[in-house]
Amino acid sequence: MNANCPLCTADGGDLIWKNDVLRVILANEPDYPGFCRVIWNAHVSEMTNLAITDRSTLMQTVMKVEQAIIEVMRPDKVNLAALGNMVPHLHWHVIPRYQQDKTFPGSVWSVPVRDPDAQHLASQFAKVPALKQKLIDVLGAQ
Ligand SMILES: [Zn+2]
Repeated sequence: MNANCPLCTADGGDLIWKNDVLRVILANEPDYPGFCRVIWNAHVSEMTNLAITDRSTLMQTVMKVEQAIIEVMRPDKVNLAALGNMVPHLHWHVIPRYQQDKTFPGSVWSVPVRDPDAQHLASQFAKVPALKQKLIDVLGAQ
């Protein structure tokens, strides 16, 4: 627990599922529907800070989130990223990407190359409730 860390002091988004060691949240990113994060609950910064079994637990959860995103959101690509330069508390970004999104084919942190496609965003945001339910179903079985 680090009192100055935003991922120690809050969920970090809309909490979808949680257990003793990790949680899955829906990021509130208006241009990226279905953007999820898998956040280790304890304040550690690197994957190698985790015991080997914990590394596996974390990555298996990332894979389940990726699979749910593929099935429900039907993205053109899924991006996985663990940076932590701004918030050095271990978390994985699991991001559905579409050719229409404003930074594709760059990362979501790249300089935008087009305006957001409002109609496409609306159609993808409409799938988010189903994604949440899918995640609860697959993670709840862990
Ligand atoms: Zn923290």
